[in-house]
Amino acid sequence: MEQNKIVLPKTYLTGYTGMNISGISQYLKDTDQEEFESDILAAKAEGLSDGEILCSMYAKMCYASLTTKKNKNISKIRGIAANIQGTIDSGHGSVFEHCTLNFLTTNCSRVFTHELVRHRVGSAFSQTSGRYVRTDAINFVHDPILDPVKDKIEKALTYLQTIYQEMENDLDLANIKDFDRKKKLTSAMRRILPNGQANEIGFSLNLRSLRHLIELRTSEHAEFEIRLVFGQVYNLMKDKYPAMFVDAKEEMIDDLLKISFKNKKV
Ligand SMILES: Cc1cc2nc3c(=O)[nH]c(=O)nc-3n(C[C@H](O)[C@H](O)[C@H](O)COP(=O)(O)OP(=O)(O)OC[C@H]3O[C@@H](n4cnc5c(N)ncnc54)[C@H](O)[C@@H]3O)c2cc1C
Repeated sequence: MEQNKIVLPKTYLTGYTGMNISGISQYLKDTDQEEFESDILAAKAEGLSDGEILCSMYAKMCYASLTTKKNKNISKIRGIAANIQGTIDSGHGSVFEHCTLNFLTTNCSRVFTHELVRHRVGSAFSQTSGRYVRTDAINFVHDPILDPVKDKIEKALTYLQTIYQEMENDLDLANIKDFDRKKKLTSAMRRILPNGQANEIGFSLNLRSLRHLIELRTSEHAEFEIRLVFGQVYNLMKDKYPAMFVDAKEEMIDDLLKISFKNKKV
């Protein structure tokens, strides 16, 4: 029998939007805007991500301002980092929906995942199936505010694990061949398991949603675990997406990172 464990969430950046340089070059060639390629190279040299460069390209395309050649209203153009700043300042946030980031959080509770999936816009989720995956030991995400009663939590987990195993035995789950029935029983038995039970979730967010979630969910008014995870998300992002987080203010509250953005419009 596996032992119950106290665990904490850990978040990984598993994917992100990239540029297809050959397609971009062909577009710039076909539309006589090849000078923009040197802006792309300059932005890459400054450490900007493919996703930021793509978003800026779309923003600039709106105003025909990839170069000075296509819009007689303009005589100069901004570089990509300055354009992103201007786009954030003006609240033209929809261009940041072009870039998507993929994350995976392990050892997170159903408390956290239930809060996360409330974010409907610019998001996608895939979570451990409580119908399909039978519990062995109960891995449990513990909020340190409950440290003074941690022994009681451990006692409750041991009790629940014992009852769960008794149910498995009484229902003879080990010998059921019909997978559909096993799945139905597994699904029904999870009703006795705690909200704090750990599982995994893969989630994808576009850059616009990400700014919104980082600010909302690292607030001191949000729940401990989602604050912890979005602090991890921010730390995974801030160096890779420097232009998008240039207006971020970092504070530590209750030993957790709080991020607020100077510009709220995006
Ligand atoms: C501190 C805190 C306490 C909370 N307490 C509770 C609670 O007690 N009970 C509860 O049920 N929930 C609670 N929530 C969850 C909250 O109500 C939201 O469901 C959740 O934060 C998702 O945020 P969002 O609405 O910004 O959604 P997102 O899907 O992230 O949407 C992003 C933005 O898009 C816009 N938008 C999205 N959908 C629509 C729409 N249908 N119409 C118009 N505009 C839209 C809004 O501007 C929204 O802010 C709490 C959240 C926080 C941070």
